[in-house]
Amino acid sequence: MISFYPGPSRVYDEIPSYVKDAYKKGILSINHRSEEFMTISEKVITLLKDKLNVPKDYTVFYTTSATECWEIIAQSLTNKRSYHIYNGSFGEKWFEYTKRIASGVRSYPFNREEIVNPKKLRFGAEEGVICITQNETSNGTQVSNDIIRQIKENNPTHLIAVDATSSMGGVALDFKAADIWLASVQKCFGLPAGLGLLICSPSAIEKALAINERNHYNSLAFMNDMMAKLQTPFTPNVLNIYLLMRVLEEVKPIEEVHAKIVKRYERWANYFSKKETLQHLIRNEEARSFTVVPVIAKDEIVTKVKAKAKSRGILLGEGYGELKSSTFRIANFPAIKKKEIKTLQEFLSNYK
Ligand SMILES: *Cc1c(COP(=O)(O)O)cnc(C)c1O
Repeated sequence: MISFYPGPSRVYDEIPSYVKDAYKKGILSINHRSEEFMTISEKVITLLKDKLNVPKDYTVFYTTSATECWEIIAQSLTNKRSYHIYNGSFGEKWFEYTKRIASGVRSYPFNREEIVNPKKLRFGAEEGVICITQNETSNGTQVSNDIIRQIKENNPTHLIAVDATSSMGGVALDFKAADIWLASVQKCFGLPAGLGLLICSPSAIEKALAINERNHYNSLAFMNDMMAKLQTPFTPNVLNIYLLMRVLEEVKPIEEVHAKIVKRYERWANYFSKKETLQHLIRNEEARSFTVVPVIAKDEIVTKVKAKAKSRGILLGEGYGELKSSTFRIANFPAIKKKEIKTLQEFLSNYK
């Protein structure tokens, strides 16, 4: 089965051999307080900073998922206010979860065809956390680095938190434009699920230490104490951290990956622009994600395309949330091969 699901998604072909290596080297049983683990952890952090252009003074934390990162931000950084800017299901979920944990949580939903206007997003002089979903996996839209940077510039007393779950590792992100970045590895990193990454600027760490919330195993101040020793408060997903190291050793620098992804996105956009029954969900090209291509059609066609694709060994991503029956999604993640895209395009040529 060729998976075009936008998470969990196609993993790199090398993963089974890396798992075998991990077993042979005894990594599946190493202690997470050992020198051996700390060496792997340090390598992962160095490689992440190197390959993705994460500033040297940012701190990387391991979590279990992107959802856990939302919770950590709500617990440990949202002491007064949190502003949620979103246009789809994942951004809304982030808002909903935060609301249950913190107070002063407000939402600023926008239309999926709309480009966020930073001029309209000035939140006053009080401290707060501004939460932006950079790549909305449910509807295939994105917020550009430029807009994120402008929101930060217009709100200097606030921290900017960015959910880049389905773009980190696939497109070039300007990490300096925000204070908190979160992702999980089962999307653009081409790895199995069960590992999240939380990346924090020095200002975010400073704020976490000032608030000093330490009521949870995953309180950021406590995680920061542990990360000073390249460790986590809990037993982490050591195998996935090792696999991340192996994958990062092999991947190209993010500029090259980004160029490949944008080129493939443009081919997809062009492909659907010539069709009638199958259309890119988002008409505004400027709003479109590079890594998730959502396709809209009549419900019965969507059902048919998904079923036929499956019988040909192609797994398409289901529509998400309110778009469940009217769309399917195509992941445009780095681990997907050129010939697999060709196979899918040939299959879709059966539809006008
Ligand atoms: C997949 C996804 C999540 C959830 O990731 P988990 O690792 O399952 O917690 C959150 N936000 C976005 C934008 C996603 O695409």
